Amino acid sequence: MSQLPLAEIEAASRRIAGRVVHTPLVHSPTLSQRCGVPVYLKLENRQTTGSFKIRGALNAVSSLPAKTRALAAASSGNHGRALAHAAAAVGMRAIVCASRLVPAHKIEAIRALGAEVRIAGRSQDDAQEEVDRLVREEGLTSVSPFDDPFVIAGQGTVGLEILGDLPQVELVLVPLSGGGLASGVAAAIKAQRPSACIIGVSMERGAAMYASLKAGAPVEVEELETLADCLGGGIGLGNRHTFAMVKSLLDDVVLLSEAEIGAAVRHAFVEEGEIVEGGGGVGIGALLAGKVAPHGPTVVVLSGGNVDPSLHRQLVGAVPAAPREQAS
Ligand SMILES: *Cc1c(COP(=O)(O)O)cnc(C)c1O
Repeated sequence: MSQLPLAEIEAASRRIAGRVVHTPLVHSPTLSQRCGVPVYLKLENRQTTGSFKIRGALNAVSSLPAKTRALAAASSGNHGRALAHAAAAVGMRAIVCASRLVPAHKIEAIRALGAEVRIAGRSQDDAQEEVDRLVREEGLTSVSPFDDPFVIAGQGTVGLEILGDLPQVELVLVPLSGGGLASGVAAAIKAQRPSACIIGVSMERGAAMYASLKAGAPVEVEELETLADCLGGGIGLGNRHTFAMVKSLLDDVVLLSEAEIGAAVRHAFVEEGEIVEGGGGVGIGALLAGKVAPHGPTVVVLSGGNVDPSLHRQLVGAVPAAPREQAS
């Protein structure tokens, strides 16, 4: 499937209405001046559970058969948090499988919502193996963080809101990992405004979708530590939906260095008054680095704000970075 019907995204919007925030779309004077076009920020960092992932999780969970009792998901943190919230809302049990690369504050937030967390291996793929085992051996129902039509449709509601609030939008910058957000947003916007461009933004360190697009088929990449931890992990060698959708719907994908990601987090805080996590701010980073040249009204999706507070303080320069060990 390379297209998701607009009707599916509109159905998702009705299903999750009142349970997610219609997040603000705010004008950024500094980015507008810098880019020479009006630039707006879509504040999903202020969404329930701190990221857009609640949209897809709620849409998927609300669409499961009523007899479903327990859910399992692999997560780099934010999907797990969203799923834990959605499961609690409908009275289901949830087990979230996460790799050792997932930051501790994200694990704690998932547990605080009542889900069980299992640390499995060093990568998202290792975590997914544990999910597959839970499905096979214990009969749990898995909810993919991105490769599921209901999840994609839920994330697509971000696109519906953008178009509703800014019908003349010409360019949307979307953080890109497994591609659920980018696929959904692109499907929602291009169905109604085919002239609009959608550009995905990932990090240089371990961009699985970018590598897969280059290779022409899903490939594995080594998962590396990065400030954009929420964008880590593979797209699945057996990817069914998002690879084809991203390939056909996105106009380009650009990659950022760690310094460019840090600069985006700092800009978001100092200039825009927004707290974003590394992966949530990459759209700003792409504009600051001049990696995208907007030609008309532009929207930057700030996809999440779940950043470790002490890391955030370091990145925005409020406190000096931890001193290096003294050489003796
Ligand atoms: C999951 C996530 C993304 C990437 O979404 P995909 O659908 O996997 O491409 C971007 N930003 C944040 C904050 C996320 O949690």
